[in-house]
Amino acid sequence: MPRHNRRSSEPERTSSFGGVFGGAVVVEWRGEPWRVMPITGAAAAKEYRCPGCDQVVRVRQGHVVVWSEYDRTGEDRRHWHTGCWAARDRRGPGIQRSGRAPRR
Ligand SMILES: [Zn+2]
Repeated sequence: MPRHNRRSSEPERTSSFGGVFGGAVVVEWRGEPWRVMPITGAAAAKEYRCPGCDQVVRVRQGHVVVWSEYDRTGEDRRHWHTGCWAARDRRGPGIQRSGRAPRR
């Protein structure tokens, strides 16, 4: 079970959010605006670590990319399972996990 954070190895496809992230919507969560961008399975070419459940978001698995509206670089965006993001209030803050959730 890979445990390292793969965020840093993500290809930086855009730094302006004008391209593939153009479809992102803003969601208010925990007093901050968050950009949420759905990724289709066809577009999911890499594995990511879901901060909601600490499980892998698999290649070809549809999910959502989430990053803070305040983060203009996009370097801190997170890839969540769609269900985990929908249940984020039960999953914990995502950035600092408050409990282990080993089940998928
Ligand atoms: Zn998850």
